[in-house]
Amino acid sequence: MVGTMSAGAAHRWAIEAHGLGKRYRRRRAVEDCSFRLPAGTVCGLVGPNGAGKSTLLGMAAGLVRPGAGELRVLGAAPGTAGTLSRTAFLPQDKPLFATFTVAETLRLGEELNPRWDARVAERIVRSGKIPLDARIGTLSGGQRSRVALALAFGKRPELLLLDEPMADLDPLAAHEIGGLLMAEAAEQGTTIVMSSHRLADVATMCDYLVALADGRVRLAGETDTLLSAHLLVTGAHAAGGSPPRLAPHTLVESRVTGRQVTALIRPRGPVGEEWRVAEPDLEEILLGYLRSPAAPSLLTTSARVDDADAPTEGETAA
Ligand code: ADP
Repeated sequence: MVGTMSAGAAHRWAIEAHGLGKRYRRRRAVEDCSFRLPAGTVCGLVGPNGAGKSTLLGMAAGLVRPGAGELRVLGAAPGTAGTLSRTAFLPQDKPLFATFTVAETLRLGEELNPRWDARVAERIVRSGKIPLDARIGTLSGGQRSRVALALAFGKRPELLLLDEPMADLDPLAAHEIGGLLMAEAAEQGTTIVMSSHRLADVATMCDYLVALADGRVRLAGETDTLLSAHLLVTGAHAAGGSPPRLAPHTLVESRVTGRQVTALIRPRGPVGEEWRVAEPDLEEILLGYLRSPAAPSLLTTSARVDDADAPTEGETAA
């Protein structure tokens, strides 16, 4: 599996984007995105509404043509026959035929997919106690999601792209579907990318995170590495005075409340004793980057593309 030109090496990366961009008329949807996603990860694609998540997923699924840059999915161009058969994409509206029964829906999956795994698809449906003779139109949102996921996993994809899979589910159904996703991904080694505008929906499931804001990558990498790369520091702030210095650390965001200043930093060396130090959670880190568009993005070593021409969007996490 070693060697830069072999197919095996290409498969190390489920997705590789180099300067990727897409515009709709004048509107920027995705701009200058350079990152890569290691195969075998469960990745949360997060960011506010309109950040470009669906556009990025659509490009990876081969449904949206990039306007700039290059995108590789499982080592090849998205949308080609070889990539399509190894990728499953579940769009937000989970398109299923309402008048079909569950059994008919699975049979359709079988007819459309040469590598169909009926055992996996039926297991997913049965573990949700969904009768095979029920019509799709009579199912709850959670049950419909389960059938859609059964169709997606029955295809035995190497890469599963899910656009807001939890959006219309109640917390109980979301929890159940989340567990199902993790179990199937672990058993089949599927790489999963799931978008959400709510970090909480995906944070507990994902070992990798790509955060977009305004079409750009703001954070990308292993959640553990992203967490350990940041500190939340609090110090005294004299009224009217300038805030205490935070150099040489990288400042992501700082806020003054009364006589206190709180800052999210990427530490470079020890933090001065005048600061009280805490470890931020993912939500605090993500919000810090979203509120501070000027703060430099952070891509961990595994997420950075080794491309001298690629824009230097971030820096290597320690
Ligand atoms: P997200 O999935 O993060 O909510 P999208 O990728 O859907 O973001 O949208 C990114 C931007 O591109 C938004 O400003 C959106 O209005 C615009 N956009 C997306 N799809 C289209 C389209 N088909 N036509 C025109 N504008 C679009």
